[in-house]
Amino acid sequence: TSLEDTLLSAIRTIPDYPKPGILFRDITTLLGNARAFRRAVDELVHPYAGTKIDKIAGIEARGFILGGAIAHQLSAGFIPIRKKGKLPHETVRVAYSLEYGVDEMEMHKDAVTEGEKVILVDDLIATGGTAEGATRLLRQMGADIVAACFVIDLPDLGGRRKLEAMGVEVRTLIG
Ligand code: IMP
Repeated sequence: TSLEDTLLSAIRTIPDYPKPGILFRDITTLLGNARAFRRAVDELVHPYAGTKIDKIAGIEARGFILGGAIAHQLSAGFIPIRKKGKLPHETVRVAYSLEYGVDEMEMHKDAVTEGEKVILVDDLIATGGTAEGATRLLRQMGADIVAACFVIDLPDLGGRRKLEAMGVEVRTLIG
């Protein structure tokens, strides 16, 4: 079986969560499967092995789990990008669009320095609004975004195209 099939069979789809009509891709089953978790991390990072990556930026909350493992694998530091109000020191904040409405996310001002090479990580890209916001935040602080990595792409929602139009290389494993 292909990589995509292996990973797909480790992910669970929950109908009508968090709202009626939504098919929620639940990666907790992939995280709980030692082989699938390792494989997903290995496959996401392999194009960047041997490239100097300074930091991995993970989007709260599932991006922290994948991003922490990826940071370790690439010997990079880790930057948490969080929902507003959660970080204790000085932050930069950005508004981003959700399917319905807007929200804000932030990171510490000193989390990244000008020119650092950063890979952005989350579990899933749908409309791309979240990753676009994170990209703007990181670039505002001078980060050089080498790529954005996601386990799952929902291609009909156009997120990949949105990020690519911003000049970000996108890597996904399923979708
Ligand atoms: P986007 O901003 O529309 O691309 O949505 C992506 C964000 O919403 C990511 O942070 C995902 O973790 C979360 N998300 C959206 N749909 C799902 C899903 O079906 N499963 C898990 N996370 C999702």
